[in-house]
Amino acid sequence: MSEQLRYERNWAGNYRYRASEIYAPASVEEVQEIAARSSRVKTLGSRHSFNGIADTHGVHVSLEKLNRIVGLDRANGRVTVQAGIRYGELCRYLDAHGFALPNLASLPHITVIGACATATHGSGDRNGCLATSVRALELVAADGNKVALSRDDGQGTLEGAVVGLGALGIVTAVTLDVVPAYRMSQTVYESLPLARLADDFEAIFSAAYSVSLFTDWREAAFNQVWVKKKETEPDFGREPETFYGAARAASPRHPVPGFPAEPCSEQLGISGPWFERLPHFRMNFTPSAGEELQSEYIVPRASAYDALLAIAGLRERIAPLLYISETRTIAADDLWMSPFYRQDSVAIHFTWKPDWHAVSQVLPLIETALAPYDARPHWGKLSLMPPERLRPLYERLPDFLRLARRFDPEGKFGNAFLERYVTGTAADD
Ligand SMILES: Cc1cc2nc3c(=O)[nH]c(=O)nc-3n(C[C@H](O)[C@H](O)[C@H](O)COP(=O)(O)OP(=O)(O)OC[C@H]3O[C@@H](n4cnc5c(N)ncnc54)[C@H](O)[C@@H]3O)c2cc1C
Repeated sequence: MSEQLRYERNWAGNYRYRASEIYAPASVEEVQEIAARSSRVKTLGSRHSFNGIADTHGVHVSLEKLNRIVGLDRANGRVTVQAGIRYGELCRYLDAHGFALPNLASLPHITVIGACATATHGSGDRNGCLATSVRALELVAADGNKVALSRDDGQGTLEGAVVGLGALGIVTAVTLDVVPAYRMSQTVYESLPLARLADDFEAIFSAAYSVSLFTDWREAAFNQVWVKKKETEPDFGREPETFYGAARAASPRHPVPGFPAEPCSEQLGISGPWFERLPHFRMNFTPSAGEELQSEYIVPRASAYDALLAIAGLRERIAPLLYISETRTIAADDLWMSPFYRQDSVAIHFTWKPDWHAVSQVLPLIETALAPYDARPHWGKLSLMPPERLRPLYERLPDFLRLARRFDPEGKFGNAFLERYVTGTAADD
């Protein structure tokens, strides 16, 4: 069952895993056996996180062989999948059966569970992060026993387990709430001054189902606005020439200036299925720049403009290191370790050139500039925020630690990342 170590690094190549072995179990029983007999174990998703959240000194488990659709409950609008499935595969299945997910991240290549574990999100004033679609989970705890959790079981535990940071066990199956399939269009507008957000922030972000602003911070302006509309929205198919002063792009665009638009999802207002418009990138292309680093900070929606002004104050330091920065809105949720817990939020994202030394000089400046807004770093991206500043930002952290101890009393799903940022114990992994 033990396979040759194939995944030495994460997707971006910036992080080298320290696991001694990797297993790819073909059944839940094998997962149970691995969990029970290992002293340190960690599940890998599609390895798209940029930090050590998925690392271990023990054994890695990849669920890539456990990636089946288990069942579609049409009457209640739910789909159950094995935990190795990626959004790209799930979306095609759902659409073919007349269903959809409410939102997606910028790329469809990531696993559902890996995304939910780190509170991965897309954009949209009324769209929660992807983990908010989770109705139920099945996981294998440290002793090898199966645990089933559901929003409907009256325990209130699922809300603690969904954004689980890989700390609670090996999730083997997940049930997601789904909605009827829908069609969307995507239109890109160019050149929106940052100052326009002073008065029009609410109007700009609520103008469509999902709105993203992209800037390279060479100017105090957004190079592009990506507007994703559902077919039920007013003016669907009749996209105006201008959007708050930004001009409609005449041809497809890549978010990074000068990059070819081929890997990007269809634009120009052309109607198509939800799963081919919500992600910025197509499934069959490598997204973004490939070799890159990413950081992202989540601030309360009410502070977003001030936070963006604080970033603009650093743009001469930021711009030379940056491919692109994206600003998105995310609705509040009730998931304990979500950065959006009970807070309508705005996420300010940075895709950096792969120069960690230079980026590591700038991150503390950004983190200091955003400190007045209680910025929370994305769980799957790079930050240098001191743990003593991060932990108090999560009011349900004590409850989460109790839950982790219940499923994993010895900390076998722990790692240096969790010990530093979550449990606050010595990083001896
Ligand atoms: C090009 C690119 C674009 C991105 N775009 C976005 C975006 O639009 N929005 C956004 O919010 N983020 C984005 N991200 C970040 C990404 O979504 C997160 O890092 C996400 O966690 C990646 O999922 P993964 O399947 O690769 O998980 P991994 O990185 O492999 O693992 C993440 C965590 O999930 C845990 N895990 C995985 N599977 C299981 C399981 N079965 N049981 C228990 N724990 C498990 C791991 O142990 C680890 O703790 C992007 C990343 C890249 C590289």
